[in-house]
Amino acid sequence: MNPLDLEHDLRECALCEHRCGVDRFAGELGVCRMASPMVASRTLHPAPPESYTVFVAGCNFKCLGCQNWTISQFPDNQMDVDGHVDPESLAQETVSMLSSRRATLMSADRVFFSGGEPTIHLPFIEKVVADARKLSPGLKVNFDTNGFMTEKSLERVLCFTTSLTFDIKAFYDDTMRAITGAPVGPVLRNVEIVAKRAVDKLWEFRIVLIPEVNEDDIRPLCNFLASLSTDLPVAFLAFRPNFVLDQHLGATRELIARCLEWAKSANLRNVTYAGVVDIPGTRGSVAEEMEKVYERRGAKIAASYALAAGCTTHPRDCVSCPSASTCLVKKYIPTRSC
Ligand code: SF4
Ligand code: SF4
Repeated sequence: MNPLDLEHDLRECALCEHRCGVDRFAGELGVCRMASPMVASRTLHPAPPESYTVFVAGCNFKCLGCQNWTISQFPDNQMDVDGHVDPESLAQETVSMLSSRRATLMSADRVFFSGGEPTIHLPFIEKVVADARKLSPGLKVNFDTNGFMTEKSLERVLCFTTSLTFDIKAFYDDTMRAITGAPVGPVLRNVEIVAKRAVDKLWEFRIVLIPEVNEDDIRPLCNFLASLSTDLPVAFLAFRPNFVLDQHLGATRELIARCLEWAKSANLRNVTYAGVVDIPGTRGSVAEEMEKVYERRGAKIAASYALAAGCTTHPRDCVSCPSASTCLVKKYIPTRSC
């Protein structure tokens, strides 16, 4: 790969709304802590849409309940990843894997970029897709995102994607910050852009239901989505205890039913749910220090878990945090995985 292909975007990085402005090309690190693109793993994957999934390493969020924390919190957690992969080789491998008998049996029909967060390696992904389409012009591409890219990056993503899977973590800013370390505004703006201008590419909006934490956000989120279109595809996913929230309880059957009812009341017509329910755990509690910093109880509970894991800045704001280079949250190793 010609290093200059990456240089333009990485010299003063503003690929996502953290807009760190660091020179990743020279090895400086922003919130995502990634200088050059790395792949964590890749495999044929049966989850819809069935695909050859490429998990890129690193993420611009520090979500407390991350299911893929080994990948997303790389490199600080020192987990194993595949590492640097030449985009041309990855393109060839992708086309070859999608033409295999295993892919046909699985109905895998696209490459699916996930992570971590693929936005932080956007120029690398664009190159892989361009090279793969030289070999297979009709190649379908899914982009799996937390939606925190800039508008410019979103336009670029929409140029090459066939489908988009888009996570929405919260509706209120304090809940979002407590869960992820980032503000909610850019995500809701991008939800609106996709709903209004690229709904044909939207596979689904995905909302992980975390009991006690983002419960209060779900009803207004349903109303917001319905105000854009009542036909938007929305998937509720049951939270499974993981990462910093490893001792927290999983989504209950009752919570899923309540969220489905809220979606119905909002007239959302295209809502599904998935996941294992009723995994036991604690409900969380509010640390005294968080009582006045966050407004909503769910945000206070999430922030209290973050505080216990070593998060120093509240409201959480990873881009302005003085502890970013030594962040203990990124090094957290859960003792329970469900
Ligand atoms: S967090 Fe976003 S803006 Fe900051 S360096 Fe990473 S990709 Fe660039
Ligand atoms: S310590 Fe700082 S960088 Fe780490 S999660 Fe908390 S706010 Fe983000």
